[in-house]
Amino acid sequence: MSNQKKNEENRMEQIVALCKRRGFLFQSSEIYGGVNGFWDYGPLGTELKRNVRNAWWEDMVSTHDELSCLENAPKPFAMVGLESSIIMHPQVWKCSGHYDLFHDFMVDCTESKKRYRFDHMRGRWAEAERKTKSEGSDEVTVETVKAFITSMEPGEEVEESITAHALKFFGLKSKYRDKINWLSEVLPISSIDNLQEAVAPEATRKGTLTEPREFNLMFKTTLGALGGADDAAFLRPETAQGIFVNFKNVVDSSRVKIPFGIAQIGKSFRNEITPRNFTFRSREFEQMEIEFFCHPDESSQWYEYWRSRRFNWYTSLGIAAEHLILREHHQEELAHYSVGTADIEYAFPFLSEGEYGELEGVAHRGDFDLRSHMEGKLDSDLNVELNEHGQPKHRGSGKDLSYFDDQARQRFVPHVIEPSAGADRGTLAFLCEAYQQDEQPDDKGKMQSRTVLKLHPRLAPVKAAVFPLIKKEGMPEVAAKIYHEFREAGINAQYDQQGAIGRRYRRQDEIGTPFCITVDGQTANDQTVTLRDRDTLEQERIPIKKVTEEIQSRLGR
Ligand code: ATP
Repeated sequence: MSNQKKNEENRMEQIVALCKRRGFLFQSSEIYGGVNGFWDYGPLGTELKRNVRNAWWEDMVSTHDELSCLENAPKPFAMVGLESSIIMHPQVWKCSGHYDLFHDFMVDCTESKKRYRFDHMRGRWAEAERKTKSEGSDEVTVETVKAFITSMEPGEEVEESITAHALKFFGLKSKYRDKINWLSEVLPISSIDNLQEAVAPEATRKGTLTEPREFNLMFKTTLGALGGADDAAFLRPETAQGIFVNFKNVVDSSRVKIPFGIAQIGKSFRNEITPRNFTFRSREFEQMEIEFFCHPDESSQWYEYWRSRRFNWYTSLGIAAEHLILREHHQEELAHYSVGTADIEYAFPFLSEGEYGELEGVAHRGDFDLRSHMEGKLDSDLNVELNEHGQPKHRGSGKDLSYFDDQARQRFVPHVIEPSAGADRGTLAFLCEAYQQDEQPDDKGKMQSRTVLKLHPRLAPVKAAVFPLIKKEGMPEVAAKIYHEFREAGINAQYDQQGAIGRRYRRQDEIGTPFCITVDGQTANDQTVTLRDRDTLEQERIPIKKVTEEIQSRLGR
């Protein structure tokens, strides 16, 4: 394992440990042993995630000025909000395609009882001698065995993990690794014809994998007390469909004109087969989605616009551009109706070097969604899909979801650009980016290592901390007064008088508090306090009278 990779792994472990220790994130239902794929945000995590959501909402919706043309935008446009229900009419998911298509293939290992996502399994063909004891006797036979040795490790780690697994399978010590004859490079498991030849990641013999089975990712539930098969409903796997089905309601009730966007933040649920990487892949998560409706002739321009606008949003909140990529999907990755999709991806520390994980997808969806809800589920040629009796497979609403442009006197089905972000993945990326360890001199000038979260001030859970240098000489009273004033002004502040001042600073650094104010001996003389900046560590004296105003201006309010 390369040193860089090891450091990155340690870094992720440290971030996870910090999140638990300081109350950012806890495993859900931890006292009962936890439940895989679900997470609870603690007091600081709740503030952080709320700040991420609020920053998104402010930047995309509430401070959006529909009379002005934003930089690089083809023209001015409106943005409005929506909050749709989590459970919707089952027909919504039939027409959206989720009911038929939203599934992954998985395989079970009958030996280890583990379940794997088929498309994530990779392996190598290998051949070596293997000793076997025949049952009931001590006789040992040696035979040459060929097998496809698999692993679930991502990225570069896969080769190493396959080798370790192969050594175990062939019963070889590590020093005899050159006795293994590798017959292929790393291949996806789907490339082999016979699964019986595969050795599952945690199995000791071949042929323990079941055939791949489809597994729908939507959580099913039942409506009403007597619910029968017809009353089956689903927890939404995305918030987007709530926007499409309300398109007409919004147009009719809010006088918006195309182009405009509808934004929604809310929980979504996917029964992920292998939830992992902390909150990155969970079964319950929050999305921040925009459906931007425009004229078909202008949709390519808007697609370009939203891709760069959304990329810049992450950098404006502190993610270094070199840790982000905008990855354009290859033609074969695109959904059939899509003209283009780009993912905004971040170099999460749990990934291998050079690998990125999706934070947000920006998709050009054409008129696919509105037309499907209007006419019925569409097929790859954008015709209504038919069943074996030649009837529509899933009927649409039959409602007219087209738009009439009264100036151009033209009716059309709008095209949609969809920037779809995950609030939890975003929060995790901001945390990972902010986490740093550096060395700083303590009160006596001795170098001490410190853990610091260099969160953007808009995202920091606590904005300012107020300390009396010592617990006497009137200092606590003055500090408490400043603390009250901050709270009244809506600044989320903490008051702390416990322990040495250096330790108090470090406690705040570790949770990302950008500003600390200390009341000291000089305060009584000249009515000033020190203001310490988390990142530059500079300390300035500020008049008490101006301290709230100063913090507000540094927070950009
Ligand atoms: P992936 O390929 O990682 O499963 P996706 O392409 O299926 O993601 P979308 O359907 O485009 O994801 O969802 C939009 C956003 O919702 C993602 O970019 C991500 O931020 C978030 N998201 C999706 N699935 C999950 C999940 N299981 N846990 C946390 N966030 C998720």
